[in-house]
Amino acid sequence: MNIELNIEPMGNWFPKTKELPLLIAGPCSAETEEQVLATAKLIERDHRAMVYRAGLWKPRTRPGTFEGVGSEGLEWLKKVKQETRLLVATEVAKAEHVEQAIEAGVDILWVGARTTVNPFSVQELADALKGHDIPVLVKNPINPDLQLWIGALERINRAGITKLGAIHRGFSPMSESKYRNDPKWKLAIELKRLLPQLPIVCDPSHIGGKRDLIEPVAQKALDLQMEGLMIETHIDPDRALSDAKQQVTPDSLKLILDEIVLRRAQPTDGEFVESLHSLREQIDEVDDELIKLLAKRMMLSDKIGESKKANNVAILQVGRYEQILNDRVAKGMKNNLSADFVKDIYEYIHQNSIKRQEKIMNEARIES
Ligand code: PEP
Ligand code: MN
Repeated sequence: MNIELNIEPMGNWFPKTKELPLLIAGPCSAETEEQVLATAKLIERDHRAMVYRAGLWKPRTRPGTFEGVGSEGLEWLKKVKQETRLLVATEVAKAEHVEQAIEAGVDILWVGARTTVNPFSVQELADALKGHDIPVLVKNPINPDLQLWIGALERINRAGITKLGAIHRGFSPMSESKYRNDPKWKLAIELKRLLPQLPIVCDPSHIGGKRDLIEPVAQKALDLQMEGLMIETHIDPDRALSDAKQQVTPDSLKLILDEIVLRRAQPTDGEFVESLHSLREQIDEVDDELIKLLAKRMMLSDKIGESKKANNVAILQVGRYEQILNDRVAKGMKNNLSADFVKDIYEYIHQNSIKRQEKIMNEARIES
């Protein structure tokens, strides 16, 4: 299905957002007026921070945990705006949150991962946003479903919100993982490929779930040319009422940002561009060869399919498959290719061979 989004580049959202990457920092939750203001004033000292985040209405996995201070915190965010140069952002999950946040002058709204999964909730937010001109960032759903993420972006965009972006915060892991939420970078890259004009902010705090993963995850996101970072920052992280393990102090935030290298999106240096160009030409040639070889391999496999059909032999010959895998992995390793990589490729090739042979078998059945 065609995806048509009408998006304004992030650089036009506010005069401050011209300077990318957009850095959003602030506590997971607003807890007290003192905590909100003290954290904001320390974050403001770093010129790289542009937006202050704080969750007021907290969607929690289990009841009985801190569910946020609610609309009372809007007054504290107003003070942050009055007393610092920071813009402010908060999460909205219901129409009344949207109305109250806009009324209080919140600059940016975000939709949480647990809300993006539910089209009814997203539509409720979209309806409440109609007629307003406020930037909205949509977090990925907790499950790795790109269509659901795109669907939520479409609903908000159709309500007339053009200052629209996505937040990549990772996906609930299905098995043991070093991340709190698996980044599944491929999905974020696919979103970029499908919607190149859509800005993506990475949330390394929720991906990592612990402090020491924030910097490497943030670096990877910037290497993939994401437009912003959202980093949970608290004046006293160990005593935070939510997400304590992943929040950092404003001082640590500064150190993390100092570590991160901003690589240029487009190289300009003449000699470098020249050699890049030549290497890319060689890659194009190798890829042409690869495609021809793959086609040749599939043709041979089709011939085997025909012959299996003629001799009434089953498609899958496990022994042969096992032998191919072992042999190709060993050869790959001799050529400095990782075993996993070669195995993955041969699994794809084998699956496709089987699919083609199945088709040949079915044609046989229809004929007979
Ligand atoms: C948050 O940003 O604090 C939050 C609740 O995040 P998510 O929706 O990504 O879980
Ligand atoms: Mn959080």
